[in-house]
Amino acid sequence: TRVDNPYAGAKGYVNPEWSAKAAAEPGGSRISNQPTGVWLDRTAAINGVNGGMGLRDHLDEALRQKGSDELYIQLVIYNLPGRDCAALASNGELGPTEIDKYKTQYIDPIAKILSDSKYASLRIVPIIEIDSLPNLVTNVSPRATATPTCDVMKANGNYQKGVGYALNKLGDVPNVYNYIDAGHHGWLGWDDNFGPSAEMFKTAATTEGATVNDVHGFIVNTANYSALKEDNFKITDTVNGTSVRQSKWVDWNRYVDEQSYAQAMREKLVSIGFDSKIGMLIDTSRNGWGGSKRPTGPGATTNVDTYVDGGRYDRRLNTGNWCNQAGAGLGERPRANPATGIDAYVWIKPPGESDGASKAIENDEGKGFDRMCDPTYTGNPRNNNNMSGALPDAPLSGHWFSAQFQELMKNAYPPL
Ligand code: BGC
Repeated sequence: TRVDNPYAGAKGYVNPEWSAKAAAEPGGSRISNQPTGVWLDRTAAINGVNGGMGLRDHLDEALRQKGSDELYIQLVIYNLPGRDCAALASNGELGPTEIDKYKTQYIDPIAKILSDSKYASLRIVPIIEIDSLPNLVTNVSPRATATPTCDVMKANGNYQKGVGYALNKLGDVPNVYNYIDAGHHGWLGWDDNFGPSAEMFKTAATTEGATVNDVHGFIVNTANYSALKEDNFKITDTVNGTSVRQSKWVDWNRYVDEQSYAQAMREKLVSIGFDSKIGMLIDTSRNGWGGSKRPTGPGATTNVDTYVDGGRYDRRLNTGNWCNQAGAGLGERPRANPATGIDAYVWIKPPGESDGASKAIENDEGKGFDRMCDPTYTGNPRNNNNMSGALPDAPLSGHWFSAQFQELMKNAYPPL
């Protein structure tokens, strides 16, 4: 039987590979003991890439770290066919039609390992397929934000099938707690996106043999930068009679931060048939926005824009910016039960791992060059044609980016 909140009363698995990279950085030992996500970002990751740890190595090490306590380990399931359809930086190894390979060469072997009775005492938390389902809502025709690959994936249904298959197979293991990715407020917080995304999650969770009972909860802000709580303004504020929803930054969104979005999305999901006990996770690995530029109070009440822009912690140029954001800092350290409806703050994106390369780099990982990672790029409809806000000189997604790690520590909030 599963516990209600796998994070409560448990310590988190520290990935030795990430931990070693963090500890090797000046000042890095301040955070190198934090639990972070283990990304199974290609089939070969199950056995270990380039002599690195495979899934069994991580689970064996998790048993060792556990000792006689409770321990959770977070595994990111991230290898759908046609992966990352609205961007290029994290395109994967499987083409849009390769759903059978996803099932038999990726999910089945993972499910087999997780079901080994040796690991029955671990609380295993799969984080299911970042960015996939929301893309089928927001980045498809006839919207201006559509991309050809997202249209293909919407038409062939392989994201929903893959997610449903993963939920069903992994959910058969009694000590597995599935959490589905639910975007972030700066993506799905608009009315056009919010309800339809929730419905899309329901569709995926009731396909390929999955049921809503295979879903323990949802995660928001994975590998993103949206602030946890904006204290200096709220969605109901007005300035001289004008709602902050009309500011350029908020732009008619219903939410100004992740915590309020996560709580509202939770209620929405319960209202359409998910279990009333589902819990939310918030990835706080890089949404701290501290440092010397962090506002200390509300902005000037000249107009809604001065008010919002002067007070907001999130200092991106647009909430559609997602790659290696300049000025970002580490957010809240991982912990259980931080707020109503929230199972935990977690660090799923390992701080210091790049979101994508600033320039085209040859590679055998299937990864493309996305100009949202190029600091000179002037944008596209998905970030409302703003500059990318990305740091320069970044390596391929997932590769170690020392300069970003240093900046994240410098701008941590709470400070280190
Ligand atoms: C990359 C993965 C990587 C993950 C964690 C993603 O953007 O595509 O390869 O494992 O980030 O850093």
